[in-house]
Amino acid sequence: MRADGETLDICRWLQRVGMPSVVGSRSSSTEVLVLLQRALLAASRRPGLRRAVVGNPATRRVVDRFVPGETRDDALGAVRRLTGSGIRVTLDFLGEDVTDRAEAIRTRDAYLRLLEALEPLQLGRAAEVSMKLSACGQGLPVGGHDFAVETVRPVVEAASAMGTTVTLDMEDSRTVDSTLAAVAELRKEHPGTGAVVQAMLFRTEDDVRALAVSGSRVRLVKGAYREPPTVAFQKKKDVDAAYGRCLEILMSGPGYPMVGSHDPALIALAHELAAQNSRQADSWEVQMLYGIRPDEQQRLAAAGTQVRAYVPYGVDWYGYFMRRLAERPANVRFFLRSLATKS
Ligand SMILES: Cc1cc2nc3c(=O)[nH]c(=O)nc-3n(C[C@H](O)[C@H](O)[C@H](O)COP(=O)(O)OP(=O)(O)OC[C@H]3O[C@@H](n4cnc5c(N)ncnc54)[C@H](O)[C@@H]3O)c2cc1C
Repeated sequence: MRADGETLDICRWLQRVGMPSVVGSRSSSTEVLVLLQRALLAASRRPGLRRAVVGNPATRRVVDRFVPGETRDDALGAVRRLTGSGIRVTLDFLGEDVTDRAEAIRTRDAYLRLLEALEPLQLGRAAEVSMKLSACGQGLPVGGHDFAVETVRPVVEAASAMGTTVTLDMEDSRTVDSTLAAVAELRKEHPGTGAVVQAMLFRTEDDVRALAVSGSRVRLVKGAYREPPTVAFQKKKDVDAAYGRCLEILMSGPGYPMVGSHDPALIALAHELAAQNSRQADSWEVQMLYGIRPDEQQRLAAAGTQVRAYVPYGVDWYGYFMRRLAERPANVRFFLRSLATKS
């Protein structure tokens, strides 16, 4: 099967807005989508396409599916709706790859204001926050790690004081050592601080074994970043198998597994492993992203599984959005078609 006319139009449009040619007219549809996904992941970390994507009015309604809004009030509206229907939340103030200390401090302050706004809702652990260390200065050329830990620390303290927690998102493989070290450092005083591990990385099974200790909150995800074959599985079936192995370790250990996936097979496996290990329903949870499989989130919660939605908000949605597009060919097609017809 060859690339269809619509896909080729999309590729021509991408070239017009400055993305390198990712496909030739002889590529198959599957090849085209794989190449587009790779290109989108690469673009998510570069300013190249940002202006064309963010500035295009057609983008907005696609973004709305994944991001409830740009303001704290938008986020709080989503919190009320979700918690009112039995879904817990983890809130992410969007931003990443900050290399300016003042901007990192603004990120910290945004989280502190968010926690202040959450306090009167008295949601306790039903509302926690997720933070990216790269938004807190981890990538600063000098002293980035220490600066990021000290930037996050007041947020972790404020969350603990409210009876809730912070989870440190995991970013690309070059940051894993620093991020896990930050989790270990913060856990000395705030043991509830959550870690995230990515099944696609070869190292993760070992990391999971080290993290599967009493009280340890660990979110297991497949991994959203483009990684080289030297450090990560490249095929979906290998990533899925690795996810299963990591899940077994977490579910049979004394920690608190957070199953971050929309994959029906892996969620079924999580339930099976929870039953095999005689886990109580409150000793683990499923986490999904805002706007993805919302009916399934409701169904699971109604059936007694603890479900938490990851709710991103803020103006800096570009990188997050591009990763969501890259995860699913249908999203890429839908989005690119709307751009190609409106520009
Ligand atoms: C709560 C949460 C937190 C996360 N935190 C991180 C993190 O810190 N670091 C990190 O690298 N990654 C993170 N991720 C992203 C993760 O790594 C995957 O990229 C993402 O979850 C897609 O993988 P999947 O397990 O859902 O399986 P997939 O095999 O990608 O998808 C399974 C099914 O889910 C549905 N689906 C999946 N993605 C989409 C989508 N974008 N749009 C529509 N439907 C979709 C489809 O029905 C698909 O068939 C997080 C994911 C979740 C759910």
